[in-house]
Amino acid sequence: MQPDTKSTESVSYFAGIIGQDVPTDVLTHLFKSSRLPGTFLFHGPGGVGKLATALTLARALHCKSGSFNNCDCDSCRAIRTGSHPDVIVLSREKQIGVDEIRELVALAGLRSTVGQERVIIIDRAEYITTAAGNAALKTLEEPGDHVRFILITDTPARLLSTVRSRSYHLRFSLLTGAEMIRFTESVGDSANETSTRDALEFANGRPGLYLRWKHSQEYRDVVNDLKTWLKQLPTGKRTASIESALKWKKAFWEFAELLSSAERAANLPRGGDAFEIRRYYESQSEYPVNPVNWRVEERAGKDRRWSQGRKALLLAGNLRRVLSLDLDTGKARAITRLQDFMEKIRFNCSFDIALERLYFSLAGLKG
Ligand SMILES: [Zn+2]
Repeated sequence: MQPDTKSTESVSYFAGIIGQDVPTDVLTHLFKSSRLPGTFLFHGPGGVGKLATALTLARALHCKSGSFNNCDCDSCRAIRTGSHPDVIVLSREKQIGVDEIRELVALAGLRSTVGQERVIIIDRAEYITTAAGNAALKTLEEPGDHVRFILITDTPARLLSTVRSRSYHLRFSLLTGAEMIRFTESVGDSANETSTRDALEFANGRPGLYLRWKHSQEYRDVVNDLKTWLKQLPTGKRTASIESALKWKKAFWEFAELLSSAERAANLPRGGDAFEIRRYYESQSEYPVNPVNWRVEERAGKDRRWSQGRKALLLAGNLRRVLSLDLDTGKARAITRLQDFMEKIRFNCSFDIALERLYFSLAGLKG
């Protein structure tokens, strides 16, 4: 339902999304002027609020009350609990093939029974295979006026260029320290508590990680095991942490992601110059940056990518300190193996087999 301008003027739909002013301002503007594009691509680091924003947009489209924030109407409640018939979230930790995409495309072609528009959210869109991406191109380009796609990814460069070019891009970024504090307050946590401070330090600008660290003892146990494991590398011994990692694949994945970004930061020369920061930024799988523009923008001191790159670098350095990572050669090589492992599970189906290989390659490092 596209509300008329009058009734939406006083409602701030994205007030609950903290630290993403650029994408949410753009969304608000598009929404209020009824010019929302058919296919969005939300990209940026994991755990910063891309899915939360997509679900908020879905609520804005479907909410039955004028108040919206803290709304408990049928629609908002159903979207929160994942049971709304017209808001579909596809979230996979393995490849999304042609058959699955064809089902979505077929669904996109059907009108909703209650006459509302369908919102189809594909989390981790980088898992869409080439064949599946090609099969969906026509639909993504012109979904029709009763369906909207939101593709979410932390590695936009991995998407088919033809899929990227058919999407309206919104970039999400890591939160600053002050924004993270605001986030903790918004979820009712006190910044004075030790557990809040620990979680903030661990999360490094990612509210998603903050929440997991703060509220799950199991997650903290897995990460702490992994930290111990990392400190003992390379021992060639199959430790409990690998077993516990199997129990919580997503946690392992995110932790590995953080580690490898810390490791890349550690490889930068002290006080890395513009070129190094650019390289680091690009290594985060973002779009290639035009070096000429980069220099000019750097001098102008107002380039977003520049400040984003620098922020990511500082945060990664901070993480390294938090984990007390003393990267000797053995550990650095082990982390390289960990990066290989991440590549494998990103593009192969079996986490378990990749983990086995990781274990054997780490064992091989001993000698
Ligand atoms: Zn509502």
